[in-house]
Amino acid sequence: MKVAKFGGTSVGSPKAIRALVGIVRERGQSVVVVSALSGVTDELIATARTAASRDASWEARLEALGLRHAQAIAELASGAKRAEAESRVASLLGELREVLTGVSALRELSSRVLDLVMSFGERMSTIIVAAAFREAGVDAIDVDARGLIVVDGDFGNARPLREKTDKAIREGLKPRAAKGVPLPIVTGFIAATESGETATLGRGGSDFTAAIVGAALGAQEVEIWTDVDGILSADPRKVPDAFSLDSLGYEEAMELSHFGAKVIYPPTIQPALDRGIPIRILNTFNPSFGGTVISEDAASSAYPVRGISSISSTALVRVQGPGMVGVTGIAMRLFGCMARRRVNIILISQASSERSICFCVSPQDREAALAAIAEEFGPETADGRIGAPIVEADKAIVAVVGEGMKHTPGISGKVFHSLGRNGVNVSAIAQGSSELNISLVVDSKDEAKALNAVHEAFFLSGTRSVNVFLAGTGVVGGTLLKQIAEHRTVLSDDYSVRVKVAGIARSKKMLIREGGIPLEDWKTLVEAEGVPTDLEAFVDAAGELAMPNAVFVDCTASDDIPRLYPRAFRESTAVATPNKRANAGSLDFYRELMRTSRDSGSPYLYETTAGAGLPVISTLHDLIVSGDRIVRIEAMLSGTIGYVMSSYDGSRSFADLVREAKELGYTEPDPRDDLSAADAARKALILARECGRELEFADISIESLLPPSCIAAPSVEAFFEELERQEPYFRALIEKAKGASLVYAATIDDEGIRLKLRTAAIGDPLFGLRGPENVVAFTTERYSKLPLIVRGPGAGGEVTAGGLFADIVRVAKSLV
Ligand code: ADP
Ligand code: ASP
Ligand code: MG
Repeated sequence: MKVAKFGGTSVGSPKAIRALVGIVRERGQSVVVVSALSGVTDELIATARTAASRDASWEARLEALGLRHAQAIAELASGAKRAEAESRVASLLGELREVLTGVSALRELSSRVLDLVMSFGERMSTIIVAAAFREAGVDAIDVDARGLIVVDGDFGNARPLREKTDKAIREGLKPRAAKGVPLPIVTGFIAATESGETATLGRGGSDFTAAIVGAALGAQEVEIWTDVDGILSADPRKVPDAFSLDSLGYEEAMELSHFGAKVIYPPTIQPALDRGIPIRILNTFNPSFGGTVISEDAASSAYPVRGISSISSTALVRVQGPGMVGVTGIAMRLFGCMARRRVNIILISQASSERSICFCVSPQDREAALAAIAEEFGPETADGRIGAPIVEADKAIVAVVGEGMKHTPGISGKVFHSLGRNGVNVSAIAQGSSELNISLVVDSKDEAKALNAVHEAFFLSGTRSVNVFLAGTGVVGGTLLKQIAEHRTVLSDDYSVRVKVAGIARSKKMLIREGGIPLEDWKTLVEAEGVPTDLEAFVDAAGELAMPNAVFVDCTASDDIPRLYPRAFRESTAVATPNKRANAGSLDFYRELMRTSRDSGSPYLYETTAGAGLPVISTLHDLIVSGDRIVRIEAMLSGTIGYVMSSYDGSRSFADLVREAKELGYTEPDPRDDLSAADAARKALILARECGRELEFADISIESLLPPSCIAAPSVEAFFEELERQEPYFRALIEKAKGASLVYAATIDDEGIRLKLRTAAIGDPLFGLRGPENVVAFTTERYSKLPLIVRGPGAGGEVTAGGLFADIVRVAKSLV
């Protein structure tokens, strides 16, 4: 014998009700419990409040409610069945109108009257559902649970008197039997006190009705039919990666539901647990899903954590003072005074110093809690033994639940690590000694981020995601997007790294999409749906959105954008960039970048600022951390100069080659940045600073490759014209070299940084470079006889974007 409860959405439309009828016909459950049509309970409350405030619009709301129910009947039943249902619902609406007229006249809405008003939702829905069954040829009758469930007088949150209720159900409710007995369609949620007054079991209480009925009748199983595939590892509306659970224990279900997993109303578990009846959560809209079973002997989970839930809105109250230390009875008085004011405590945490106790209450209980404390601890507050309570509103509670956490070390470490990495601050913690639940209080704005971060840490074993916010879609940025689009599936399938581009900012427009921007036509999307670019807001969004591992990728050559990096770091957003302006800015700013990245634990990745995709910075870094000392770096750091010089043999003009380098994407937007050696000097400065040399750009000695007239040209075009005119100057350079290879070398040593044009013979690490090749030769204490050499193409969209992509993946894999 099975009891099946169908929730609000499962009776929310005629189509859903037909699906419900089909499910019961096929499976033959013996008792059906239903909620009000979805949204109706909320609407009844709102209508009653409107009436109480003497706002005449309550009548129109009541009309609309009546219309919705009448339409459902018209669609589901015909002939005499329809007429009967219509007249019964109409008479209920008449009764409700009288109640509301009274509310409006008295301008008062007590919880007693509100319960009566709410009861109409289920009283109407059962009539409709029973009619739909009869229309489908199944004999069914609607049953008012006020004749079955006897409760205390706690209106709005009534609790059954077990013995009386069990007796009433056993005597009054006949489950559908093989022959003759119609299928009872029972109102969920509502009950009556011993004196016959209508009361409700608390919002979401229809689940509870099903368990109470199932327990009284000794059902073999209680089924809860809802709108999702059972209980998921987290609320699917907040955690897109949540997955359905096959089974869980009663206590786990209790903890998850108590801390916000709305899919099952917390008190539902107790009657089932007492009688050892399994509860199965099923999906009306996907009946082939086998269900999540809550039972005593739930299979142990593959993970130590079974699920994660949250309460979005709570207030954290802290009571503290020297007068609490070592004094017995404080906690008793504190929680006693709360109980007297009917304040429900959601979570408690007390420091072992006993100097403070903090606890969470619902926002609506906050004033009552403060009043209770003021009254109870008046004398202590007056003489300073206990301070005025401190309240932090806008808090959320996240609960991590699982039997498997018992005696398993490292669980809280993992929770806090994942929160810390994502910049979520934890204000209070509670873990019961049952080790079944770790509850954390965080800022409400961090709720979804915390849920997703913890979910990823426990369930997506090994999978890491990274959320890219890209600024600048020129050669490097554009290529990066192309590479991500091409390689994403392999990364996710073979390496468990998921890269999502959540934001793109171009010079005029930017677009942020929490779910990810489709990369096939990002340009059209940003243009069509983007908003005017505001990079501060862009960086802030990366920190604020509920996504783990956010990384701000600066693909501009801007001087200003790096000023936003510290702001990103402080919001726990990593920064990855090929923009040299940041690390080659003032020494003070360089220090600030390093410090904020380190202090906030947010990775800063700038491998591509020197040698593009070549492993220059990482090699240098590895040498230094492993205790080597850098004696000298001899390098060719300009892809553009390298490309032009290695091709310049007099057959084509110097200007022509520079133009070609620009077209190939080797140059900075203004090629003078490369040819004046400013760009190479910045790279040298970055390497020198990485070695610990405290230098400013002005300390670098640069012998420019360009004559001053080229540098002074007012525009890029004018510069090219001047370059043509200066062809003889460049000719003279190669003639002077007499066939030896000419290189533009940077030297970094104890004396500082020098850049100049020189010749290189065979054996010189800078000899024989081709095209855009860069080379960096490290002479160190360990590599003293022969230098360690990193060499390869050091410019170009593909290699730079590739290096940047690798940096981004490093953020995801926590390799930094
Ligand atoms: P019903 O009206 O059928 O009682 P509810 O709206 O009360 O349905 O409960 C189902 C909803 O609970 C789901 O739509 C889902 O958004 C929410 N929910 C919260 N946490 C969870 C969870 N861990 N698993 C499944 N659903 C959850
Ligand atoms: N209709 C009631 C509510 O909305 C009970 C339920 O749906 O479980 O709270
Ligand atoms: Mg519910």
